[in-house]
Amino acid sequence: MNGKEEVWDKAEAFRREHLVGGLQHLPVDVFSLTELRLGLDVIPFDDLFAKYDSDAAITQDFTGIYVDTEAYVFWEKGPVWKQNRLRFSVAHELGHYVLHREVAARARFESFDDFARWTHSHGGQKYNLEQAANEFAGRLLVPVERLQQLYDEVRRPIRRATPALALLRGRSVGLR
Ligand SMILES: [Zn+2]
Repeated sequence: MNGKEEVWDKAEAFRREHLVGGLQHLPVDVFSLTELRLGLDVIPFDDLFAKYDSDAAITQDFTGIYVDTEAYVFWEKGPVWKQNRLRFSVAHELGHYVLHREVAARARFESFDDFARWTHSHGGQKYNLEQAANEFAGRLLVPVERLQQLYDEVRRPIRRATPALALLRGRSVGLR
């Protein structure tokens, strides 16, 4: 099976199970999802972005998600692109939570550092962990029906001159 499609299916199943009630609204409220729905801790981590080049990171025991303190504290006030980046980062970590919890549990990490290195350099796998978590995050934050709708809107009026990149991107996320 295509790794990507498997990830998309898992993301859609996750949406159906967890994005219910007030969580159905877009943009997805990733913090309520993480804390209230999944029961994971959201833990501020000073200089996470500076140290690990990421706004968010799942804890090595998969019971919580560290978030860069500054990005989290200024979440409401920050520019939209920063909000989007943090939202995507949390969704990416939820991807690791859903997709890689079992693999990680078998590896047993001594420290968060060991774990962080593992998630970023896990070799020998056909479909890399980071890519899988990104695909999951994309599908979690934008439901496929909405993606298809947006894609159709872009494609229809300019059919003769559809930007090749938009088409390629659409295909790469499984649209027709
Ligand atoms: Zn990752």
